Amino acid sequence: MSPRVEAPTVRSIPESRQLRADLRGPVLTRDDPAYDETRKLYNAMINKRPAVIARCWDAADVVTALRFGREQNLDIAVRGGGHNGGGLGSVDDGLMIDLSLMRGVRVDPKSRTADVSGGCQLGDLDHAAGAFGLATPGGIISTTGVGGLTLGGGLGHLTRKYGLTIDNLTSVDIVLPDGTFVTADADEHPDLFWAVRGGGGNFGIVTNFRFRLHPVPSVIAGPTFWPIDQAEEVMAWYREFLPKAPEELNGFFGFLTVPPGPPFPPALHHQKVAAVVWCSLASAAQTERLLEAVHRVGTPSLHAVSPMPYPALNSMFDPLYPSGHQWYWRADFVKELSDEAIHQHVLHAQQLPTGQSTMHLYPIDGAASRVGARDTPWAYRHAQWAEVIVGVDPDPRNAARLRDWVVGYHEALHPYSMGGAYVNFMMDEGTERVRATYGENYDRLATLKRRFDPKNVFHVNQNVRPATA
Ligand SMILES: Cc1cc2nc3c(=O)[nH]c(=O)nc-3n(C[C@H](O)[C@H](O)[C@H](O)COP(=O)(O)OP(=O)(O)OC[C@H]3O[C@@H](n4cnc5c(N)ncnc54)[C@H](O)[C@@H]3O)c2cc1C
Repeated sequence: MSPRVEAPTVRSIPESRQLRADLRGPVLTRDDPAYDETRKLYNAMINKRPAVIARCWDAADVVTALRFGREQNLDIAVRGGGHNGGGLGSVDDGLMIDLSLMRGVRVDPKSRTADVSGGCQLGDLDHAAGAFGLATPGGIISTTGVGGLTLGGGLGHLTRKYGLTIDNLTSVDIVLPDGTFVTADADEHPDLFWAVRGGGGNFGIVTNFRFRLHPVPSVIAGPTFWPIDQAEEVMAWYREFLPKAPEELNGFFGFLTVPPGPPFPPALHHQKVAAVVWCSLASAAQTERLLEAVHRVGTPSLHAVSPMPYPALNSMFDPLYPSGHQWYWRADFVKELSDEAIHQHVLHAQQLPTGQSTMHLYPIDGAASRVGARDTPWAYRHAQWAEVIVGVDPDPRNAARLRDWVVGYHEALHPYSMGGAYVNFMMDEGTERVRATYGENYDRLATLKRRFDPKNVFHVNQNVRPATA
């Protein structure tokens, strides 16, 4: 007989009865049948048990829930899409302010803007804007929260042409730690607007994001694969090719194991490969010309590039990465890919521990690099790539194996990096890592944190501590 495992106790907050009466959306505590399902995060490696979950319906609910959390002296976490690797959308024994019911999007095709509620997933935005042939840069998996992704920066298929997601953010509606609700943009509360464009959830709860949209009626996209034993040659070619390519062409580099099913040919199933996932905004003829070079590098085992709507590209990998898997990652910004770094990459890629484990290099040149390093908190505008090493698997018994592979790979490559990492590709790694990530912008963030959140109410995030006076 297996030993009985006691469920960890969760603090009981009798006052949550009043919150239930005050909120439009549901309020859940540990006794609710829906509590366990609702508290789940995307990363099943993280198992947090909040005392209260306030499922907000609108900005008024957010203000009410925040006031309750402060009155009860609870640690407060804010969940947008719940995708954060380190599980920063939840908190043990505290209050989870859950925005995941707030998923409205309003697109104005005339002004090419979208108003996106604070709990939307990328797919909600892609769907609503895609109907008008419009889009703004976002990530590569459609279930990722717009909230966390945007507040941390936002990298994706359109980054070389149109910049980071924050470079396309024109205003936010935000509930501040004291419960006040303001709209911040370049003219109103410009310091706050500066801080939210990369400063994460440190400054308040965003109930609405307004984005600039671009005409993206369709893209020409898909992956090229090469056998892993050609990876050094391919990576060395990619480091020269992509930075010189026109900004209409984006291509992120990856190592992966080919999934064992359609649309991949059976001969490739379970094969480890080096890959580039392309997204071209150029015409079909121009794209073909741009990608001619691909066929002269090694011997590609698959080249599956075709026209498709942008929302189709942005949800292409969703089935490979469903919610509820073990997930562990480490990241760095990279300026140069030296031959030695490439050699180390390939050594570790040959040891990909599970079918879904991967490594990606996301380009940050082009439009993203033309924004000044001080114009937003996102300090690494001069990096060439954001590198992320990801261990993923459905089986919790593989958690330690994933972690060991990621940490070993990261330790081998970190000496070739620039120091900081993209804040959205970090686990909960401590203050020094956060400081390295914001670099020369950290002190300004800390000063603004003191002004807007002196008591550090919003500390369940990649935390910027309020500057001491
Ligand atoms: C499968 C997968 C694919 C990814 N792909 C990409 C990618 O292509 N590009 C990229 O840039 N990133 C990518 N990411 C990283 C992603 O940006 C981060 O994980 C991000 O934190 C997710 O945001 P979320 O709202 O889903 O997370 P949550 O866990 O809900 O929240 C993360 C943090 O943001 C804060 N937050 C969220 N919403 C709000 C809000 N409305 N107001 C205030 N604070 C808020 C939370 O408090 C928390 O600190 C990916 C992540 C995963 C798991």
